[in-house]
Amino acid sequence: MGLLRDLFDPKKKIKIKGMSDTFYATEDCDGCGECFRKCPTGHIRMIDGKPDWGKPCMMCAQCSSFCPRDAIRFGEKP
Ligand code: SF4
Ligand code: SF4
Repeated sequence: MGLLRDLFDPKKKIKIKGMSDTFYATEDCDGCGECFRKCPTGHIRMIDGKPDWGKPCMMCAQCSSFCPRDAIRFGEKP
């Protein structure tokens, strides 16, 4: 719980190396924008109708939790 609590504490500004650009949308993404709307920190941009995770985020997983097509993955792009 300590790490989770620290991740959500803005004063600690914890960044995990390599996590800033490791979300991506699979081909199942239909560009609905739900992930963009649910992100509490505005870290998702819609580019050409697809989400782009270009900045570090707080790893709350709201985007992937609300994706109606289960199209969000974490890790290196295949
Ligand atoms: S919520 Fe899912 S389907 Fe909708 S834009 Fe985001 S990744 Fe694509
Ligand atoms: S994990 Fe949370 S903060 Fe990061 S992009 Fe998804 S909704 Fe936004």
